[in-house]
Amino acid sequence: MITSKTKVLGLIGWPVDHSLSPIMHNAALADSGIDAIYAALPVEVENLHEAVRGLRAVGYLGLNVTIPHKLGVVELMDELTPLARAVGAVNTIKFTSEGKIIGHNTDVVGVTQPLIDAGLQFEGAAVVVLGAGGAGRSAAAACALAGARKVTVLNRTAEKARAITEEFQRSDAFPDSVQWEAGSLAAARDWTGIDAVLQMTSLGLKGNTETPIDPSLLPASCFVLEAVYAPMQTPFLAASRAKGLRAVDGLAMLIEQGAASLEFWFERRIERSAMRTALAEFLEHR
Ligand code: NAP
Repeated sequence: MITSKTKVLGLIGWPVDHSLSPIMHNAALADSGIDAIYAALPVEVENLHEAVRGLRAVGYLGLNVTIPHKLGVVELMDELTPLARAVGAVNTIKFTSEGKIIGHNTDVVGVTQPLIDAGLQFEGAAVVVLGAGGAGRSAAAACALAGARKVTVLNRTAEKARAITEEFQRSDAFPDSVQWEAGSLAAARDWTGIDAVLQMTSLGLKGNTETPIDPSLLPASCFVLEAVYAPMQTPFLAASRAKGLRAVDGLAMLIEQGAASLEFWFERRIERSAMRTALAEFLEHR
């Protein structure tokens, strides 16, 4: 029951009407017995400052932040957690009881934790990120922060991949020892020695049957992470699984960053299973 004590959380972005976050967060809150609700809040760029301060003023406990605000909210934070500072982007905001605004980033664990759970050891790994949009950028940063030895970013538009790796090479947020490489998705390459491939392009979204690379060329020991979650089984995942690779779906990434946000707000462990059940049911019936 929603009472006057119920805490309120929300997602700010533009647009937010296709977001799955309210579904998985409200399922997790109910499953965990936490007296809070989560809403999607459309906020245009010109209203960002007013919205964040206003939501603090009306007693929101915290916010998730999505496109196009992940960079724009950084300057509004009173404090950044070390992860948010390293990535330079905020996807989770906490309003403290003293009125402070703390910015955090759970996109990083959204990428790394599902692969670690599947058995990947990032320390010393050679990883390839396919895509250089928002997801590709944060996946590349996440792998380097998790200890990868070599991070290669491949993109249809190779210059975008190069811009990211050159920026990260110069940044002091990552160890100097990380080897950064960039290239074109279309170029033929030798996949020997690659420990993980992270599919961060939008290829494979419902109705699209293309794969950015042919997973049958990957080494048998390679791990695969897919970003796209609708459909849950993309052509890239299907081909990876057919080859016998250890493959993690896009829902795992979505759920992990969401659960990590809830854990940041409530400082307690959140079970992931209710989130997956709610999302799978929604995606199956929509
Ligand atoms: P974005 O910033 O728009 O970037 C799109 C990326 O896909 C770019 O690298 C783009 O290459 C590439 N791409 C698009 N069409 C292509 C094609 N026909 N052939 C080859 N490459 C193509 O999007 P984003 O925010 O990075 O998101 C990418 C995907 O990840 C989306 O499907 C999104 O839903 C998903 N995602 C999932 C999660 C999750 O939690 N599971 C989180 C974030 C994003 P160019 O640069 O050459 O255009």
